[in-house]
Amino acid sequence: MLQIKNLHARIEDGAQILKGINLEIKPGEVHAIMGPNGAGKSTLSSVIAGKEDYEITEGEIIFDGENIIEDAPEERAHKGIFLSFQYPVEIPGVSVTNFIKAAVNETRKANGLDEMLAKEMLAMIREKSEKLGIKKDFLSRSLNEGFSGGEKKRNEIFQMMMLNPKLAILDETDSGLDIDALRIVADGVNVFKNEGNAVLLITHYQRLLNYIQPDFVHVLANGKIIKTGDKSLALELEAKGYDWLLN
Ligand code: ADP
Ligand code: MG
Ligand code: MG
Repeated sequence: MLQIKNLHARIEDGAQILKGINLEIKPGEVHAIMGPNGAGKSTLSSVIAGKEDYEITEGEIIFDGENIIEDAPEERAHKGIFLSFQYPVEIPGVSVTNFIKAAVNETRKANGLDEMLAKEMLAMIREKSEKLGIKKDFLSRSLNEGFSGGEKKRNEIFQMMMLNPKLAILDETDSGLDIDALRIVADGVNVFKNEGNAVLLITHYQRLLNYIQPDFVHVLANGKIIKTGDKSLALELEAKGYDWLLN
């Protein structure tokens, strides 16, 4: 599904951050990327999603058999790449439901499909929200307005479920995910996961991996993947930190 080959990227007119990343993700797999702060984890997720502050200087990103490095972020999203929002915007007056309806229909339109029938949309919202334990009153709240950390996570996971991407990239920032928010993300990923999609989970914290079983764990340091293992690597990192890998 995703093949990253010798990817080098730098900040627009700035420092080289990614220095030769190779990564292959197949349908049905969950990959975790861990690593010290400043390693380039968020840069990698941004570059896969196509954020414009970065410039690819070498390498390829192949998604479903096509090199996507020239595609705009919206095109990548329409092809089925989802990136969780690290800093979600507030949109007063637009409800969680209306925002996601618009997003679902925009994605359909970009893929040559008609708008979803209102009845069908409601049924899908009901099904997905029930699976995630989301209450009705949450769906009618203004997007992200006054949301707690946990509610922002709940909204992101709901968006992911509704958009049903092929590849979901979740970049969990190094700061302030409390245990409830962590459980929301983990439960959501576990509900979302199936044999046809894949998850790239970027995290500073081993504890998230207590709830999500990764097939592969990669350590990213100084712009390169320096080690790959299975979930026992995450436990080893929890016990020993990163320093033993860095020299
Ligand atoms: P991580 O997510 O692993 O903590 P990041 O990808 O956020 O690491 O950052 C990698 C390095 O690139 C850091 O030194 C960071 O300061 C720098 N960096 C990332 N994005 C930008 C940007 N838009 N402008 C300036 N520096 C950036
Ligand atoms: Mg960071
Ligand atoms: Mg980061």
